[in-house]
Amino acid sequence: MRKKAYKKLKSIFKDRYLDEKIDTIQYAYDATQKMYPPDVVIFPKTTEEVSQAMKIAYKYSIPVVPRGWGSGFSGGALNIDGGICMSLELMNKVIEIDDDNLIATVEAGLVNYELQEILKPHGLFFPPDPSSWKFSTIGGNIAENAGGPRAVKYGVMKDWVMGLELVLADGSIIRSGSKNVKDVAGYNITHLIVGSEGTLAVVTKALLKLYPIPEYKKTMQVVFDDMSRAAQTVSSIIKNKIIPTSIEFIDRDAIKTVESALHIGLPKADAILVIEVDGDLCSVDESVNKIEMLCKQGGAINFQVAQDEKEADELWIARRSISPTLKRIADGKLNEDIVVPRSKLAEMIKLSQDISKKYNLSIVNFGHAGDGNIHVNIMYNTDKKDEVEKANKAMNDIFDACLSLGGAISGEHGIGITKDAFLEKQLGQRSINLFKDIKRAFDPKNIINPHKMKL
Ligand SMILES: Cc1cc2nc3c(=O)[nH]c(=O)nc-3n(C[C@H](O)[C@H](O)[C@H](O)COP(=O)(O)OP(=O)(O)OC[C@H]3O[C@@H](n4cnc5c(N)ncnc54)[C@H](O)[C@@H]3O)c2cc1C
Repeated sequence: MRKKAYKKLKSIFKDRYLDEKIDTIQYAYDATQKMYPPDVVIFPKTTEEVSQAMKIAYKYSIPVVPRGWGSGFSGGALNIDGGICMSLELMNKVIEIDDDNLIATVEAGLVNYELQEILKPHGLFFPPDPSSWKFSTIGGNIAENAGGPRAVKYGVMKDWVMGLELVLADGSIIRSGSKNVKDVAGYNITHLIVGSEGTLAVVTKALLKLYPIPEYKKTMQVVFDDMSRAAQTVSSIIKNKIIPTSIEFIDRDAIKTVESALHIGLPKADAILVIEVDGDLCSVDESVNKIEMLCKQGGAINFQVAQDEKEADELWIARRSISPTLKRIADGKLNEDIVVPRSKLAEMIKLSQDISKKYNLSIVNFGHAGDGNIHVNIMYNTDKKDEVEKANKAMNDIFDACLSLGGAISGEHGIGITKDAFLEKQLGQRSINLFKDIKRAFDPKNIINPHKMKL
């Protein structure tokens, strides 16, 4: 059956169809480094081609996995059952920048950063800025409800997507939302699709809300000799009703690792916060002064404000260099992105330190302190069986600790196949059953990205 379908796809997509192992293997991975090769890869250029392909897949009941740039951290873009990998990478155009309504219409395969560059001459930007913005697509960002450092002030994808063009499992094309600031006609399909991890429909186009580039920006680096004081300071900044653009943190092990790799003069400290504020000149200066006062009251041992763009970039270097340098601690890493209410950040860090001691494993924490989103990295040596076992147990304890504080098992990377075992723990069986009912309504044959999110 599959052979017949693939023959039809080949006749439609011609040189935009791959079925040789040497080619399809390149689409077998995402950032999890797990490998599931698709049978074939297709590269549609139009919504109509997506629809044609879905009609064929539907008729022959073949799994289809929509794919952006494969930067996902939860296995969402992997073809668990083989089948069709539908790469949206050629649907990468900006269709319209509507300066009158501050809305962009784009194709799903557009890389986030390319949109930002196109928007600059218009004096506008698109606030969601996942750290992967140079190698992730708007479609992937929508599917994962992605967010980045600016989420503290500007929120995540769900706050900026106004409407979608979608292709359903049977190939029908629908549109949700509109350019209207207010639109309450019917169920909000747009918000159901944002964060659905490519399990309900293929996103082909999106209407995105834009924002004027702020006039002014200041970056600060704050050093603490106690991680829990740093975490408490983050909570006190928010409690004092100051909303910075970003508050990122790195812990002691991350500081040591980055310093030993890059020798950039980082202090011997327990934690560093990188804080950024934007807005008009007056409000930015006022926020910087208030933040300085709160940091000093919170026990900061050093507070530095960048004087220009170059200095601001230097203050970000430590935060941006953590991931690539972690391999220096151990060759294995379990990396999750738990999130807790911001007021619970200090408590969560303390629990993580206790778990690190319990299993005698290094746990490196860094991430988006301003929205309580912690990248927890449990480091272990892959050739030591006992360390592998301990690392898995430690991650289980981390999830339990996070849930006990009212947190969530993923702040941005999604569930995919890596966290599906923990989803029920957070949401309960009734919610999972409801997800299954919703999935059936969109995709009765379960062909769009099956086996993800327990579906
Ligand atoms: C170094 C690094 C840093 C990262 N930093 C962040 C960060 O700061 N914040 C954050 O949120 N994430 C981050 N991520 C995770 C990842 O980049 C995001 O999840 C991103 O949104 C994935 O986009 P992608 O185009 O690579 O999608 P892919 O990995 O190709 O796919 C991800 C999921 O989206 C689905 N999908 C893709 N396109 C479509 C479409 N058109 N229609 C329907 N479903 C679709 C896929 O089926 C899959 O389930 C990071 C990843 C890396 C490797």
